Amino acid sequence: MASTLCYNAINLSTPVFSRTQFPNQSSKDFSFEFSPFFRHWSRWAGTSTTGQKRTSFGEIKATVAAPALETERGRSPEKKIRLLIAGGGIGGLVLALAAKRKGFEVLVFEKDLSAIRGEGQYRGPIQIQSNALAALEAIDMEVAEEVMRVGCVTGDRINGLVDGVSGSWYVKFDTFTPASDRGLPVTRVISRMALQQILARAVGDDIIKNESTVVDFEDHGDKVTVILENGQRYEGDLLVGADGIWSKVRKNLFGPTEAIYSDYTCYTGIADFVPADIETVGYRVFLGHKQYFVSSDVGAGKMQWYAFHKEPPGGVDGPRGKRERLLKIFEGWCDNVIDLILATDEDVILRRDIYDRTPTLTWGRGRVTLLGDSIHAMQPNMGQGGCMAIEDSYQLALELDKAWEESIKSGTPVDIVSSLKRYEKARRLRVAVIHGMARMAALMASTYKAYLGVGLGPLSFLTKYRIPHPGTFGGRFFIDLAMPLMLNWVLGGNSSKLEGRPQSCRLSDKASDHLRKWFEDNDALERAMKGEWFILPHGNATGTLQPIRLNRDENKPSIVGSVPHDDSSETSITLPLPQVSNRHARISYKDGAFFVTDLRSEHGTWIADNEGRRYRIPPNFPSRFRPSDSIEFGSDKQAVFRVKVIRSSSTTTVAQKEESDLLQTA
Ligand SMILES: Cc1cc2nc3c(=O)[nH]c(=O)nc-3n(C[C@H](O)[C@H](O)[C@H](O)COP(=O)(O)OP(=O)(O)OC[C@H]3O[C@@H](n4cnc5c(N)ncnc54)[C@H](O)[C@@H]3O)c2cc1C
Repeated sequence: MASTLCYNAINLSTPVFSRTQFPNQSSKDFSFEFSPFFRHWSRWAGTSTTGQKRTSFGEIKATVAAPALETERGRSPEKKIRLLIAGGGIGGLVLALAAKRKGFEVLVFEKDLSAIRGEGQYRGPIQIQSNALAALEAIDMEVAEEVMRVGCVTGDRINGLVDGVSGSWYVKFDTFTPASDRGLPVTRVISRMALQQILARAVGDDIIKNESTVVDFEDHGDKVTVILENGQRYEGDLLVGADGIWSKVRKNLFGPTEAIYSDYTCYTGIADFVPADIETVGYRVFLGHKQYFVSSDVGAGKMQWYAFHKEPPGGVDGPRGKRERLLKIFEGWCDNVIDLILATDEDVILRRDIYDRTPTLTWGRGRVTLLGDSIHAMQPNMGQGGCMAIEDSYQLALELDKAWEESIKSGTPVDIVSSLKRYEKARRLRVAVIHGMARMAALMASTYKAYLGVGLGPLSFLTKYRIPHPGTFGGRFFIDLAMPLMLNWVLGGNSSKLEGRPQSCRLSDKASDHLRKWFEDNDALERAMKGEWFILPHGNATGTLQPIRLNRDENKPSIVGSVPHDDSSETSITLPLPQVSNRHARISYKDGAFFVTDLRSEHGTWIADNEGRRYRIPPNFPSRFRPSDSIEFGSDKQAVFRVKVIRSSSTTTVAQKEESDLLQTA
């Protein structure tokens, strides 16, 4: 076995690395120079979508300094345990980092780094929540700081569930309080590529072995040997399978088992788009029947989205067919969904079927264990799959360190097998609960029914009566009660166990002073929206009407009429149509809200709201209208306008996509 690395767990002071097995990673294989995409992301670092520093939310940094990591790192005594890690994804790299910081020797075998780099830019960003950021802080404060700098903060805003069709809030999640109460960092979203590169750079190119597919292993009792596809063999003290949902290590440990299809296929995309409520809303799950849609701010004027649709696995779209299919599936859904699909290029839409794996009680055997998706791949609905892999990594490194300390004290060999069992025991309950929550969240998101009749086949005509489905009340009641408890536990439940993370190191990020109010008051949330208000023609006479930008001057209302008005205290909106009276209606603005007043017109003024209710407004009384409502001047459907609020930087995109001359002002 000429190519075998000569490594002996007992005599480790001079490990012999054959040059062929430990090439210094060439830049061709894997360069730590940041790619153009990453540089692009780096430019976003700490920057909100509006181009302002996120500190506009009052982010405050603690004055207590982080520990002098470099010094500590330099002083870390070398510990004679070698970890072999199959897989250089999030789990594998964080474990490698954690083990390296503890002073262990590490080797990561990754089958294809370019897959992460290549697909990564389209796989898009990943949410790293407070619990995982805290674990990362405990592992390596500098790396955690870098991840937080590059990431886009979403946990300081309103996140939650809305009805997919109307866009109305169903339940809001407070992800800020569980973090701030415990002094944990607030949830961020970060590009997967950026995250992987930050981690890989910190781990070091001498540790990551690219183009190294693990196909088998041998556990000899006192050491373990990894076997690569090319026949090379490497020895170490333990092997960790961090090789993802289709893990080879898992298969060889426990035999083949099928991953479980979630019943959903998932399209993902990233778009240059800034929603009007970007300052107030981080991510939103749009609920529907057998389909749902998730959108999240990812910073720098970009939004990431996921569209889930119930169907058998293995479906394939025709060339350039993804966007078209999504527009069909989500037809009739609120603007927030449709605008995002429209704003996304076909080329950056990816599709994958969603699988998970039910976690088992036993995570390993002997000197081999599993970590991350290889043992507990979960549905993405909680955004916790990668976070759990980070928590796993912290725990595993900690247990190995304890075993090392124990062996020093007792003068006995390091008890690797027991430490792996302790790791498994410490992790399995928390992981199983979060795994279950992710399944439950998927079920809830997709069985949501806003109205009676939804999904009832022959009885679906009932939906037109818009009778709220009783399940929505029960569901909301349950979620209102359970969600704060769940979030507290998911985001903060592991933090008290973390060693090496100074509690006082971070005073945590700070949210807007209005956050509490936005949770309780939908109206305040809507009024805080900063976009431009338009009314866009969409009735029978669309071709002859122009989009109109509404005037936000409280002292200068607009008069809608069939003839122009030249009163300097008003602006004039002229609609030369049969059912529009000379002075038909007034549009006015106050405190972040728009109102329309019918001026005793002959044919009336009508509003159709986002719940599908249509009513004639009373004369001489200002009636509030909202985004997505329709306003009709007259009853002949000739002058129908849809209310839309658009952020100026996304105006062009939406305008192009909708092929409308949006910036025509009255
Ligand atoms: C649509 C979607 C959205 C998600 N969003 C989030 C989110 O917001 N937040 C979150 O925390 N999680 C999220 N997740 C889950 C998250 O992506 C995974 O949980 C996470 O990537 C698991 O990390 P891992 O290292 O265990 O596995 P992986 O990331 O799958 O990495 C495994 C690595 O092993 C390598 N490998 C595989 N086989 C071998 C082999 N035989 N030899 C050598 N190398 C091998 C692979 O190339 C890969 O690099 C999401 C998942 C999906 C599908």
